Amino acid sequence: MDTRPYMQDRAAEEFFSRLAEGMFQSTRCVSCGVLNYPPRVVCPDCLGEEMEWVDLPREGTLLAFTWQEAAIRCRKPEILGLVELEGVGNVLTRIDAPYESLRIGQRVAFDTWTSPDGLVLHQFRPLEEG
Ligand SMILES: [Zn+2]
Repeated sequence: MDTRPYMQDRAAEEFFSRLAEGMFQSTRCVSCGVLNYPPRVVCPDCLGEEMEWVDLPREGTLLAFTWQEAAIRCRKPEILGLVELEGVGNVLTRIDAPYESLRIGQRVAFDTWTSPDGLVLHQFRPLEEG
């Protein structure tokens, strides 16, 4: 059990700082090689404390989506989706597309979105289908 939650906050802070520069990254344990999302400062698998930041896939698969009427920071209605990133896991994220246009299994691509109060968040939008 991780008894240092503030350490995880530091990883989150670093994640958002990198995101603000257009980087979509998380941590990989140098000791055992496990890639974690969300990023960690301590490996949950081997408790290693040496982490490196690596790029996450910028394309994924939409597993589920919904919309919320009231949203903190975001305009409403806000579309939220669960996106599977191969080899990483699932990311809960903003989806930038009309709700009616979305379908399960759709391929989506990473992008960033800046909230009205200046926080840079990740979002995904459907890939053009040709
Ligand atoms: Zn590890």
